[in-house]
Amino acid sequence: MDIPRIFNITESAHRIHNPFTPEKFATLGAALRLEAGTRVLDLGSGSGEMLCTWARDHGVTGTGVDMSQLFTEQARLRAKELGVADRVKFIHGDATGYFSDEKAGVAACVGATWIGGGFAGTIELLARSLRPGGIILVGEPYWRRLPATEDVAKACLAHSISDFFLLPGLLASFGRLGYDVVEMVLANQDGWDRYEAAKWLTMRRWLEANPGDELAKDIRSQLTSEPERYATYTREYLGWGVFALMSRRY
Ligand code: SAH
Repeated sequence: MDIPRIFNITESAHRIHNPFTPEKFATLGAALRLEAGTRVLDLGSGSGEMLCTWARDHGVTGTGVDMSQLFTEQARLRAKELGVADRVKFIHGDATGYFSDEKAGVAACVGATWIGGGFAGTIELLARSLRPGGIILVGEPYWRRLPATEDVAKACLAHSISDFFLLPGLLASFGRLGYDVVEMVLANQDGWDRYEAAKWLTMRRWLEANPGDELAKDIRSQLTSEPERYATYTREYLGWGVFALMSRRY
């Protein structure tokens, strides 16, 4: 079981697989006022940077689940490197339907909400692992500027304009699901560059090392077209943020 190989190639050198930077994760950890011993569940944990740095900086414990074998291995290595391997655990597997009877103080899905068929389903899934009074975190794109045409949305690698909201609409939709937005940290264009532009050097070096690979043609064509596509579309139109939600029961 694994994710499509192309992501394991283009994001092999990424520690964070979304437009967040280490500073943004630090800001988010501080914003959430995490207490030592808080249990964190992270679905689609990638290379584990959020869990590992929060374990180091805030003393949280946690479990990450990710379908990429490579990213999961990298997460385990990172935990050892940061001296938190006794506090965080990474499971290689499909997080679809995953919940835990050990309730978490923070249940997160940061940039992988297709796991629950969209953010609404993912919030429902995360809620099953959350202790009363706990915080749900979702990382999700939104339109910074509404595309004028469906072609522009597609050039942003969305299926259609209706895939995403503008930021106020996204915040309102969390409310309609019965959640307060209690914090948010938004990515910026520098963070997008770290996520997207970092793929280009990885692709260039991979091509040099793997000229005969069956994916070489795909990677070559991506490397040729991506910088201009990204700068014209994704960088201008797409925002991204992590939203902290608490149930509106009070
Ligand atoms: N939250 C991480 C990774 C975000 S990228 C970070 O902030 O860096 C999306 C992640 O979802 C990738 O690591 C990918 O391997 C993982 N993924 C995709 N489909 C999945 C599934 N069905 N179950 C678990 N993980 C999945």
